Amino acid sequence: MTGRPVVLITGGSRGIGAAVARKAASQGWDVLVNYVAQEEAARSLATELHATGARTEIIKGDTGSEEGIAAIFAALDQHFGRLDALVNNAGVVDHAERVEDFSRARLDRMFAINVIGKIRCAAEAVRRMSTAHGGQGGSIVNISSMAAVLGSPGQYVDYAASKGAIDTFTVGLSKEVAAEGIRVNAVRPGIIDTDIHASGGIPDRAIAMASAIPMRRPGLAGEVADAVLYLMSSQASYVTGALLNVSGGR
Ligand code: NAP
Repeated sequence: MTGRPVVLITGGSRGIGAAVARKAASQGWDVLVNYVAQEEAARSLATELHATGARTEIIKGDTGSEEGIAAIFAALDQHFGRLDALVNNAGVVDHAERVEDFSRARLDRMFAINVIGKIRCAAEAVRRMSTAHGGQGGSIVNISSMAAVLGSPGQYVDYAASKGAIDTFTVGLSKEVAAEGIRVNAVRPGIIDTDIHASGGIPDRAIAMASAIPMRRPGLAGEVADAVLYLMSSQASYVTGALLNVSGGR
């Protein structure tokens, strides 16, 4: 297929997703940016990306709901009519709490967005990219977390478990679609300086955790984006099922 490749970034309006959008646009990708609430952030990012020459559209949609996912992929089909990469990035934490205090509502939200939403978005991407469905191939990059390995005790073991599920999903799906032109990989960021920590009630978490990181600093969203862009690129043509730590050694 000719023309600029298209990437869909869920949760692309801020943080790691926005950094991926910026790097993708600068490397010749057209971009569909999904957001759930902060329309102004998505609009301002789109204006920035347009200035680089990238075709950019934004779409509101909750990846934790079937309606949200349907809206996102309808926008993709309507505006671009193709998909070359999915960055399955949208994810949430909750406030720090012990396991025995987790409510059912908290767990339902966490797993709806962090696990089921990512699996459902990957399914829609496979339908469009798999050569078994008449597609041209492509790649999926799931944003996991080092929490999958470390467990996040006393803070959000549920979040860590949701990321563990994504690691396993990455390995399984990579094998399922490997002969259909789709590579599936995951990036496991460590502590990255974004708004997610404030949304979990600990705004200074990235700085406060610095001494626990071997490199003694939190990572930048752009440093995660570089790893994502590598996995999306032809330089990673034989890489699938990989879980790539971007964590300063943690
Ligand atoms: P962030 O700064 O909080 O940004 C979250 C982004 O996701 C925003 O664009 C937000 O949209 C969107 N979003 C949230 N819930 C959504 C939903 N239900 N449907 C669609 N979009 C939704 O987060 P981040 O730090 O960049 O994290 C991005 C990913 O990296 C997540 O999967 C997270 O678990 C993972 N991660 C982050 C860290 C870290 O230290 N930052 C470490 C490991 C892994 P709005 O702008 O509309 O709110």
